[in-house]
Amino acid sequence: MFSAVVFDLDNTLLDRSAAFRAYLNNKVDDHDLVDAAIQKDDNGYTTREDFFAWFAPQIGEEPKTCQAEFLSTFPSFFKPNEDRLTLVRKVAESYPIACLTNGGSRTQRGKLTASGFDLVFGDHVYVSEEVGAWKPDRRVFDAVIEGSGFDPTKTIYIGDNFQHDIQGAMNAGWQACWVSLGRERHADDHFTIETIEGLWELL
Ligand SMILES: [Mg+2]
Repeated sequence: MFSAVVFDLDNTLLDRSAAFRAYLNNKVDDHDLVDAAIQKDDNGYTTREDFFAWFAPQIGEEPKTCQAEFLSTFPSFFKPNEDRLTLVRKVAESYPIACLTNGGSRTQRGKLTASGFDLVFGDHVYVSEEVGAWKPDRRVFDAVIEGSGFDPTKTIYIGDNFQHDIQGAMNAGWQACWVSLGRERHADDHFTIETIEGLWELL
């Protein structure tokens, strides 16, 4: 069925939503502002510039300073999850693995280190800022194939964002598995699991 497994990072292996909420709660007491900021952030898909231009003035900070502080502190809100580390280590016993993540190099590498996944993936990490292309652009998927030597038709990509992860991977000729997180969508050209723990049954 497949011979290599590539993972998305945020909200697939790591609970970015929980980490972002923790960052906000650490920063402000106003629950309405925390909720509004979570909306504005759109799971990280709003650019950091746009987000901090909106958020910083509301807490009396300067956007650039606030963003710089976020970039250096956000990774510390990610903690190792032993069950998920075990899951990916287990997958790695049977398949070559890699991680492909959209985002800035410093933040994504910081999250990998804070969560312990840096040791699980080793050198097999592809960050879009480093590659110079962002999912769903197929160039970033092609860069993984080039770097790893995987056969794209036998590589499965596992991610939570339908457009960026699932459509992006399939457009690059990969197989795909959508981590639905309870959302619904009906299609039979890809696998669906509700959370990453569902991977146990798929592999
Ligand atoms: Mg994701």
